[in-house]
Amino acid sequence: MNLNHPRDINQARLLANIASRAFSLFQDGYRCCPFETCPYLFVVLPPAPDTVGYVVDIHPDHPYCSCPCFARHQVCKHYLAVVEEAALLARVAEREREQEYADHPVFGCEPDGGEW
Ligand SMILES: [Zn+2]
Repeated sequence: MNLNHPRDINQARLLANIASRAFSLFQDGYRCCPFETCPYLFVVLPPAPDTVGYVVDIHPDHPYCSCPCFARHQVCKHYLAVVEEAALLARVAEREREQEYADHPVFGCEPDGGEW
């Protein structure tokens, strides 16, 4: 399904439904754990114990979630929530880098060959 161009009212309704559940996913107790080895891969763990988590791949070329909803509709609340979360984490990391630079500006090479 094309997320930006739902084919009919049912698809639009389904998308709105999924998006609103994605919006509150982490408030509902779901957790999102990134894979250390790949920046696009995450595991989404439901709040209930003894339930299986879902593997989510947010790579733009091959989006994926291992849940049944994604298998049927090529979109799901886990995928949308992780995309949002990853964008947020990227913005935070970017801000931290900017802050780091503001705290320790680098004016060319350090003559004593210090940290930089
Ligand atoms: Zn899913």
